[in-house]
Amino acid sequence: MIVFDLLCGGGHRFEGWFSSADDYASQRERNLLQCPDCGSGEVHRVPSAARFNLGAEQPKPAPMPAKTADMEGKDPFAIAQMLYSRMLDTILTKTEDVGRDFADEARRIHYEEVAARPIRGQATQAEHDALIDEGIPVARIPLPPADQLN
Ligand SMILES: [Zn+2]
Repeated sequence: MIVFDLLCGGGHRFEGWFSSADDYASQRERNLLQCPDCGSGEVHRVPSAARFNLGAEQPKPAPMPAKTADMEGKDPFAIAQMLYSRMLDTILTKTEDVGRDFADEARRIHYEEVAARPIRGQATQAEHDALIDEGIPVARIPLPPADQLN
């Protein structure tokens, strides 16, 4: 089954479940698709909600490194570990460690009191929640202790 986000001529958004893209096309051709809110048969597929930029600034997940040739033939768990350690490498080399000052520094950057730059550091749950409440985009990733980083 696949799910398409659909939009009727009246602007109602709803989900349609189909066995395939062909199934969707065929139902649409035969006018079997109807808006559940207003019954309109004028139904179009729209990009999935996850891909909509709603205008608000949202934290971007760290880019996942691409799978590479040395991962061929490895089991999925080993591949996941390799991808994870490469993602950590990227984060550790591209960000400045501000340690326990993370919440204060993130706030200064957000309010443009200091130059914007990628930072990492530690924040308590309360500090994290406060940043989110203020609309400051922060992402949390689990980091192994420093002595295990290599
Ligand atoms: Zn409608």
